[in-house]
Amino acid sequence: MKITTLTPTRPVPRALGGRLCLAIVNSVLWRRSDSPDDLLGDYPTFVGYLRELGCIDQPDHDALLTSAASRPAEAGAAFDRLIELRESLFRLFSAAAAGDQPAPADLDALNITFGHGVRLLAVQPSPGGYALTWGPAGPGMDWPIWEVAVSAVAVLGSDDLTALKQCPGESCGWLFIDESRGQNRRWCSSRLCGNRDRVKRHYQRTHELPGKDSVSLAQRRP
Ligand SMILES: [Zn+2]
Repeated sequence: MKITTLTPTRPVPRALGGRLCLAIVNSVLWRRSDSPDDLLGDYPTFVGYLRELGCIDQPDHDALLTSAASRPAEAGAAFDRLIELRESLFRLFSAAAAGDQPAPADLDALNITFGHGVRLLAVQPSPGGYALTWGPAGPGMDWPIWEVAVSAVAVLGSDDLTALKQCPGESCGWLFIDESRGQNRRWCSSRLCGNRDRVKRHYQRTHELPGKDSVSLAQRRP
């Protein structure tokens, strides 16, 4: 049975946000551009992504895929719920990172999904003592979505919130927990967005003449 907790137990790559909920939100690349790239196309892709993140075990992965193959309509409906939650979380965390109040509808969406999952959580004995697990009625295809909601609640209700940042990359929008020692991480990735920004600023300094000079450049065109 799946074991879950309100504090993250499985490390999620820092590069992808450092928390399950953020890695899910960050499954859209270049979200703020004209051509965002969505890594999640359907329920099986979502399950594969969770496995790649290390957030589910191989047996859970295989069981979820088997369920999805035998009940595709149910898997499709679960996937729609995931995407709805993901988009609410993006807006919610973007607001939180900016110090703004969340839209009530986005908070409602999280609370509803979290509430569905919490109703099915149960404390069970485990080798180390006790663990929160999804009760017998829980397993289906929605429990990984509830885990995303649990992870989001844990971020909002912990010190993580003060370290939540959004990449300032022009077309990026990725969210992450800044776990750097000096809390001075600025970019999702200095190799990607940070480098892009440096290259852009360098280009502007050396190629573009802002303001009226830009007009004169246009006027010089043949
Ligand atoms: Zn970025």
